[in-house]
Amino acid sequence: MQGVLLVTGGSRGIGAATARLGAAGGYRVCLNYRGNRQAAEAVVADIRAAGGEAIAVAADVADETDVVRLFETVDRELGTLTALVNNAGILEPQCRVADMTTERLSRILAANVTGSFLCAREAIRRMSTAHGGKGGAIVNLSSVAARLGAPGEYVDYAATKGAIDTFTTGLAKEVAGEGIRVNAVRPGIIHTDIHASGGEPGRVERLQDTVPMRRGGQADEVARAILWLLSEEASYTAGGFIDVTGGR
Ligand code: NAP
Repeated sequence: MQGVLLVTGGSRGIGAATARLGAAGGYRVCLNYRGNRQAAEAVVADIRAAGGEAIAVAADVADETDVVRLFETVDRELGTLTALVNNAGILEPQCRVADMTTERLSRILAANVTGSFLCAREAIRRMSTAHGGKGGAIVNLSSVAARLGAPGEYVDYAATKGAIDTFTTGLAKEVAGEGIRVNAVRPGIIHTDIHASGGEPGRVERLQDTVPMRRGGQADEVARAILWLLSEEASYTAGGFIDVTGGR
């Protein structure tokens, strides 16, 4: 594998695993993060220590000015973008729909949906043959929650992932003829910090018996599906979804 890979939300969890695996496979990697510089720099240091090339760029994917600066930094420091992983995403504390505020809904829609659209827009402007580019691949992070709905926990989050599914389907068809393959991965319950940010650090342990494989997944197991979709091994796969859920 070669080329330039941008992973949004690459400082921790699934994004960090994807950045590490991508760098090991030969990509020059930009890992984006929102605020946790220490975590981002630790991933960059690991990649460089292993002989890879990586930079970390702070940017809020929900902020258009930040996104434009993020992509311009990639252009300048790594070269022409060939792969984007729209991974940055947030949960809000577990809550019923009856208790959801407008502020909460705005935050989650902006980070999970608007952020993915803005990053895809910038990627398309660089990759699309209709814009003078040489093609590329985009992988969006959806969730099994798009199918299950996350009742009593975060229906808002699940709905943003439903939006990502539709976004993936539509965008894949829109740009397939312009050299860009767009696909999505739908993780199940994966061991990362995101559950703590939803207010339940032990969520994986509570729910793992509901998973047919009787365990939570590891970030690396999701990263491998993402890297496959980005690779030439997936050269005829567009508008596809890989569920990485232990059978859930
Ligand atoms: P995580 O461990 O909570 O890490 C989130 C990452 O996203 C961090 O790098 C964070 O940066 C970054 N981030 C958050 N908001 C951002 C923003 N507005 N702009 C830029 N970066 C932002 O998350 P994860 O569990 O790895 O999840 C990654 C993706 O997989 C998400 O889209 C999530 O919805 C999806 N997913 C996860 C699971 C699961 O069980 N873990 C299941 C299904 C789907 P900082 O470090 O700077 O905060």
